[in-house]
Amino acid sequence: MTKLTIAREKAEQGERLSLEDALCLYEENDILSLAAWARAAKERKSGRKVFYNVNRHINLTNICVSDCPLCAFQCHDGDSRGYLLTHEKIAVILSEAAKAEGLNEIHIVSALHPTADFSYYLAVIRQVRAALPQVAIQAFTPVEIVHFSKITGKSVEDILHILKKAGLTSLPGGGAEILSDRVRNIICPNKATRMEWMDTVKTAHRLGIHTNATMLYGHVETVRERMEHLLTLRDIQDETGGFQAFVSFPFHPENTRFSYLKRVGAWEDMKMMAISRLMLDNIEHIKAFWVMLTMPVAQLALGFGADDLDGTIGEEKIIHAAGAKTNTGITRTKLRQVIRETGYEPIERDSFYRPGGKIQNENGIS
Ligand code: SF4
Repeated sequence: MTKLTIAREKAEQGERLSLEDALCLYEENDILSLAAWARAAKERKSGRKVFYNVNRHINLTNICVSDCPLCAFQCHDGDSRGYLLTHEKIAVILSEAAKAEGLNEIHIVSALHPTADFSYYLAVIRQVRAALPQVAIQAFTPVEIVHFSKITGKSVEDILHILKKAGLTSLPGGGAEILSDRVRNIICPNKATRMEWMDTVKTAHRLGIHTNATMLYGHVETVRERMEHLLTLRDIQDETGGFQAFVSFPFHPENTRFSYLKRVGAWEDMKMMAISRLMLDNIEHIKAFWVMLTMPVAQLALGFGADDLDGTIGEEKIIHAAGAKTNTGITRTKLRQVIRETGYEPIERDSFYRPGGKIQNENGIS
């Protein structure tokens, strides 16, 4: 049997794929077979269910010390675009967010501000917890946690302990990009290293703080580096079991120092979606983040192994700074409709994928 035949058989049987298997399947480019295998893998895990939640994103600041060449969101201190949300402004956002029926998660991701100290971020978590006691707080990527550790001199473990005690419930898992030193030296040389990102998520998992796992593809990485990234995540998951979901993001080059690159197309997005579902056999959920993919492509991804569309969002600045043309928010009715059109069953979930939405039927929900 050829390597490809072996890889195809393993994918069809739902067996664990090796790096070489994944590369063979990627090169073969048989996207319809990939879709069928990935869909079967998805249905073994979550049946006919597709998840979404009612959440609100908050980006506290866009002023960043890291100056990553891949980033369109950041600016320098003193730039007219720069902002750092005050607690008064955050209070207004939270009171608006509270009006959304079924709100169950506040999602906070930000740049690495040069002067805001850890007490500001800690106060934000306490503020959210006080304003919305029942809502999960998914906040701070491992990159931000490493930054807090550096500016305070405290260990990552201590930072996570303090945040958890203040009300943090999970980490979003961003900033993994591609877990390769070669790639990171080009796209984000100053932010958390591959090892720092990995150590931070493992520490979080050990402390009972779940995270997502992410991947940013379509820039300077090779296909092999993408597959190695997936294997690294799978190994971490074998060790800790702490990843709740995997989210892959196609790189949006606009307004970055890689603006000469072309954004990869939907074909590539779907291939990566399916291969991710097949490779990450130990991660329960694969998210199609509609803000990044556009809703039509995210909907298509539900036929390529994804089982989660993320949420209503409310407002999003980071991806839109890089030229995303998607809306910054969506209603739960629309999310449910998009899922229903695929033949799957929409399930409103909480931050931990427990069905918990208040929707009981298809009618009359905003
Ligand atoms: S990717 Fe994150 S760390 Fe890097 S410059 Fe942008 S906001 Fe800062």
